Amino acid sequence: MQKKISIIIPVYNEGENVSVFYNELNKALNNKFDYEIIFIDDGSTDQSAKIIENLASSDPRIKYIEFSRNFGKEVALTAGLNNCSGNAAITIDADLQHPVKLIPDFISKWENGAKVVVGVRKKNKSDTLSKRIGSWSFYKIMSRIADTKIIPNSTDYRLLDRQVINEFNRCTERQRMARGLIDWLGFRQTYIYFDAGNRQDGKPGYSFTKLIKLALSSFVSLSLVPLKLAGYLGIFIILCSAVFGIYMIITDYLLNIQDFSGPAILATINLFLIGIVLSCLGLMALYIANIQIEALNRPMYIINKEKL
Ligand code: UDP
Ligand code: MG
Repeated sequence: MQKKISIIIPVYNEGENVSVFYNELNKALNNKFDYEIIFIDDGSTDQSAKIIENLASSDPRIKYIEFSRNFGKEVALTAGLNNCSGNAAITIDADLQHPVKLIPDFISKWENGAKVVVGVRKKNKSDTLSKRIGSWSFYKIMSRIADTKIIPNSTDYRLLDRQVINEFNRCTERQRMARGLIDWLGFRQTYIYFDAGNRQDGKPGYSFTKLIKLALSSFVSLSLVPLKLAGYLGIFIILCSAVFGIYMIITDYLLNIQDFSGPAILATINLFLIGIVLSCLGLMALYIANIQIEALNRPMYIINKEKL
């Protein structure tokens, strides 16, 4: 039996791009594969939804989900993965920045045994300097603090095997970055490198502030380091002020070789107490971290293969 591929496309105000994208897609897949196309309209305010409905009425392979408002791309991808029926799913942007003609390459890597195929961007001509700096520092910070390894410039242009889709669908957290979650799931990944062109039409749905929000929420959901920083700072302050305090006591009161002013002594004691408060915050962070792990309710482990 021929394997079925689900193509999942989040759409937010892509009125001009949807039909172009659809034509490109048909050209690339060229009836070589059995496939379904799932458009997720993420609360577009333009004609996107109407255009998708029209396309769907002429092609039974097209399915669509329309959100009641804009929920963001991560949620749109999730809805697509929750509702697809293929043996594998490919998530791809509607703005033609992810070259559609590479889809057969993704599929052949999958047929050769890869569970996850990740599209990695070589360069993006349309990116502004601020976005480039932003994404560079995001990956730098992320690779330092997160437990999950995230490859720089990896995109949402991905193929997931049915097994990975099923595991993905078990994850229940609300604040999510699909990419990070997929990387967390593990499985054998292979990469396909591509040049991202300019977006076809319209403007990016992700503003700089929206990207920063996404970055922050992924720091918070994939790493506990920001929480623990206060604690480390507290311990550092306690140590410094304790050493200085002891030095004061010895030289001023015991040996009488120095004379520290009242405010200096007060400041040292104060610093010591601040250190205690901060390290207690760090301690609380550990408890919050525990609560967070329980609340995320991720599956405890992901099985690749089993024989019981
Ligand atoms: N998108 C979405 N919801 C949003 C913003 C974007 O579904 O709130 C879709 C958009 O239609 C496109 C993809 O996500 O298919 C990537 O968006 P964009 O081109 O704005 O992001 P970038 O290419 O800058 O990463
Ligand atoms: Mg884009």
